[in-house]
Amino acid sequence: MEMKNPVNLSMEYFQKLLRNNSKGEPTMPAEIIKGSEVAEQLREEMKTEVAQLKERGIVPKLTVILIGDDPASHSYVRGKERASNEIGIDSDIIRMKADITEQTLLQEIAKLNDDDTVNGILVQLPLPSHINEQKVIEAISPEKDVDGFHPINIGRMMVGQDTFLPCTPYGILTLLRTKHIKIDGSHAVIIGRSNIVGKPMGQLLLNENATVTYCHSHTKDLASHTKNADILIVAIGREHAIDESFVKQGAAIIDVGVNRTSEGTLTGDVDFEAVKDVASYITPVPKGVGPMTITMLLANTIKAAKRRNERA
Ligand code: NAP
Repeated sequence: MEMKNPVNLSMEYFQKLLRNNSKGEPTMPAEIIKGSEVAEQLREEMKTEVAQLKERGIVPKLTVILIGDDPASHSYVRGKERASNEIGIDSDIIRMKADITEQTLLQEIAKLNDDDTVNGILVQLPLPSHINEQKVIEAISPEKDVDGFHPINIGRMMVGQDTFLPCTPYGILTLLRTKHIKIDGSHAVIIGRSNIVGKPMGQLLLNENATVTYCHSHTKDLASHTKNADILIVAIGREHAIDESFVKQGAAIIDVGVNRTSEGTLTGDVDFEAVKDVASYITPVPKGVGPMTITMLLANTIKAAKRRNERA
């Protein structure tokens, strides 16, 4: 059967990545999917593309709005800035105090929407509680929504149109493709139904002809679902919530969770050491999904710049 709405990974750097990664047979213990290495390969290709765009006078630019003093948000934004600069994307950070009004923030976004030199706008989440997050997301022009959170872009994804895909699910899909993990006809189980990870992840896999099950905090007997998963995507936000008793032998495990341990290190939602012996593929935390999320943000920013140039 034809794939219904396959995601367009036609850009040259994706094609090269797929050619350079041969089809591996599932093995146990699991092959570790090093997202950081895949991200590195993609960013090298993007660097070349950005240089070529600059020769044509097209300079991709990402502007990030950072509100308040949350150390995790500051660290994420620094990572995005560094990654942008490494591949030649112009980046700008607008810092605002935690007590700014919603109106001031919306005015700033409106200015950026009107600024032709800015291709991508990202408002770092979470926002202070007095600001309506959905209102802010919807204030960003869909053409500059490089996070892929605007309802128009989510809708386009739902119906399989070309759009800015939410970066984390887009990165995971790219990892699955890179490793030639079979999606069509597979049973994918997603734990978590957030708007930025779980829900769009399931939709992307459905578009690729997977049979998709969503699980969440109200799901009864979680293991009875996860044990049937050929592909298990875990996006809960709870340290080592998933051990080998939740996993079917030979499954591909994607761990989205980022949790800080009592020792201050980062760890995932999956008990990596226990699960790697039963799975066929597994992503580590750190250096798994995280670097891919930033890489897809860069891909979306380049895409926004190219689209803007086509419209001009
Ligand atoms: P979120 O909005 O807090 O969503 C968590 C989801 O997990 C919810 O849908 C919740 O169910 C579900 N859940 C909670 N406890 C559960 C349980 N015991 N059993 C089954 N489901 C349960 O989180 P998020 O934004 O999707 O992020 C999830 C994790 O991924 C976090 O650790 C976050 O830091 C990480 N993350 C990583 C990246 C990356 O690039 N690596 C990107 C984004 C997020 P309900 O809907 O019923 O509440």
